[in-house]
Amino acid sequence: MRTPLIAANWKMHKTVAEARSFVEAFLPAVRGLEGADIALCPPFTALAAVGPLLAGSAVALGAQDLYHEDRGAFTGEIAPGMLTELGVRYVIVGHSERRTLFGETDELVRAKVAAAFRHGLTPILCVGEQLAEREAGRTEAVVTRQVEAALTGLEAAQVERLVIAYEPVWAIGTGRAATAADAGAVCRLIRDRIRAAFGDRAARGLRIQYGGSVKADNIADFARDPDIDGALVGGASLDPQGFAALVRAA
Ligand code: 13P
Repeated sequence: MRTPLIAANWKMHKTVAEARSFVEAFLPAVRGLEGADIALCPPFTALAAVGPLLAGSAVALGAQDLYHEDRGAFTGEIAPGMLTELGVRYVIVGHSERRTLFGETDELVRAKVAAAFRHGLTPILCVGEQLAEREAGRTEAVVTRQVEAALTGLEAAQVERLVIAYEPVWAIGTGRAATAADAGAVCRLIRDRIRAAFGDRAARGLRIQYGGSVKADNIADFARDPDIDGALVGGASLDPQGFAALVRAA
């Protein structure tokens, strides 16, 4: 049976000092909670501070992006080995903000997923349609294309360990979450595609999160769907007590 993963994507929020005080308040608030894995994905600059604070707790460290080369002249980029050295376990790849604001292509996302696996990191692969695509009835086509492009060349055993976050772009930061029924339907579609391409074992192991305006008061709706395995949370992950309440409600 899959364990849901509730992951905090802090995006470009929190200095080192702010990240530290979050963790100090958050860990006691979730101590002893069972039933879901929890991860925090701070900005790169706070990883080295947050990692040691999480050591020995049930909360894992994640990063928000990585570069697909191991080293070299790539000014401003972060190599996978730089993340593993800091105890990073999960890495978000292909977030819609990376795709739309920073021009990340399906091909770059594929290279990043492969690089994460090469280094023993668990990718959280983000996929999701824009509002215009949904209104044009293209959700299935867009999500299928993103998933297939990102997973080209992977082995079934890798896909089994992967996390996919289905994040409809129109639901991110808008307060307008997808309904659990709509989100569940797309998550099932993704799992069916994975089953067809990589087999039943990969499809049963793969975790598929929902993301987009998830809050403490709607997480339970998503958690009830058998094909939604947790959430990727932006705005509602920034306050330690608020995020702890969300995790408790999951
Ligand atoms: P919000 O939870 O703020 O809508 O952001 C979702 C998201 O983009 C998580 O990666």
